[in-house]
Amino acid sequence: MPELVSTRDPNAEPVPYLDALMSKASHCGLHIPEDASYPQFNRTELDTIATLNFEQLAIVVKTYLTNAAIPYTAQTRLAQRAYDREAFPTTKDGNIAPVQQIVGNLLVQQLSLGPTAAFKDFGLRSLAGEMNYALEREDRHLNILAGTSGDTGSAAEAAFKGIERVNIFMLSPKKGMSPFQQAQMGELSGENVHNLSIVDGSFDDCQKLVKDPTFQKFGAVNSINWGRIVGQLPYYFSGYFQAIEATGGTIGDPVDFVVPTGNFGNVFSGHVARSMGLPIRKLIIATNENNVIHRLVQTGEYYNTGSTITSSPSMDISVASNYERLVYEMFEGDPLLTRGYMREFELGKRVLLQDYGLDKSAFERLNIESGTSTHDDRLKTIDGVRMLTDGELVIDTHTADGVAVAMQRDIEVPTVCLATAAAVKFEASVREAIGRIPERDARFRGLEERVNGSGFVDLPNSQAALEVYLRKFVDADVFTTA
Ligand SMILES: *Cc1c(COP(=O)(O)O)cnc(C)c1O
Repeated sequence: MPELVSTRDPNAEPVPYLDALMSKASHCGLHIPEDASYPQFNRTELDTIATLNFEQLAIVVKTYLTNAAIPYTAQTRLAQRAYDREAFPTTKDGNIAPVQQIVGNLLVQQLSLGPTAAFKDFGLRSLAGEMNYALEREDRHLNILAGTSGDTGSAAEAAFKGIERVNIFMLSPKKGMSPFQQAQMGELSGENVHNLSIVDGSFDDCQKLVKDPTFQKFGAVNSINWGRIVGQLPYYFSGYFQAIEATGGTIGDPVDFVVPTGNFGNVFSGHVARSMGLPIRKLIIATNENNVIHRLVQTGEYYNTGSTITSSPSMDISVASNYERLVYEMFEGDPLLTRGYMREFELGKRVLLQDYGLDKSAFERLNIESGTSTHDDRLKTIDGVRMLTDGELVIDTHTADGVAVAMQRDIEVPTVCLATAAAVKFEASVREAIGRIPERDARFRGLEERVNGSGFVDLPNSQAALEVYLRKFVDADVFTTA
């Protein structure tokens, strides 16, 4: 398969997969295969890979997509580490991304059995192993600087914990994260993991610090990293095959996926899986009250009206960065048109597909649809799913967003709603919905009390203070001095 180019640069020198993991695409674009063309699995190949276990499936899919950037033996070692029992202690029948039938064609795929109980574990564990492989090959070390307001921080730290060639520095606002999320990160601190709590700073302040030119040479792990998109493919394949089996279908039959969407990374992975020949029919984007993407799909207008805090906070966005990759494809791989469209949005907060020779029918042609939910919808859905499963399944608010959107529609074909987080992460809302909270997994019992606020270093919201702190751990030549 082609190497990776920039969505915004017609003169970009294509880069191989492993290089793309550790560099930024030129002209502030995102990495994407040239012309958004992907290798295809044919029907016979799909029949064959349907029999593989999750680990083997992941190796095959990633080898296809990355043009065997990592040899098979190394892939096997990476997959064993990414998906091991210690990280996923509570699999269902050995599957780490099990699909459960709720009723008829309505299914839920559990993506929150990993170490931090959110689907981000998949993308980040895959990325961490591959980055480490690339660093070993070049005998290099990497310092990562990132910001988080919730799930990304703990998932990245759990993924990179103990990886010797990487130091990870994670900025978070002192106020704003839930006690559970804070405790998850606090518990991971130590060795190569550093938690920096920005006093009097918001998540946006953290992002601003990360983007300061002084820290330009630090590595990034945010959701626009191509390696994270690739690391999210295996569960679509596994989910498809399980859905076919659960509903008595045949491989080749259509399956819809509903994806609780924030930054458009997860749903874009689904789009890539479909582009590789997986018979996904529709991808249905579910948004909460921050419904910029829902409005885009319904009208063709991409309009940043700011964001508000909701009960599914990991989807509280005002821009959806990975949408740019779809734009590049809708514009038939034209980087100048993509750049113009994105620049117009960035400068004026608003852009119309209609001004670029397209309209909302572009989404229809790609079989991408959307829906939205409110806090009330999500609470009712949590309770509804609990009743439909005789109390067995209690979903979180993000998953509820997806299931609510699925239930607003005619469910014509098997429909897999991705469960992007576990209820334990958002217990307050779950209690509001059903009047109780499910028993926690052993590993999460008493977490907040155990950690008790430890594991963070306080820093003022200042570039200079951050630089002084980082210089204690990081070589001088990593800093860009003006
Ligand atoms: C990050 C996150 C999302 C949004 O995923 P995107 O890839 O950014 O669209 C949804 N649900 C949960 C629980 C998350 O942590």
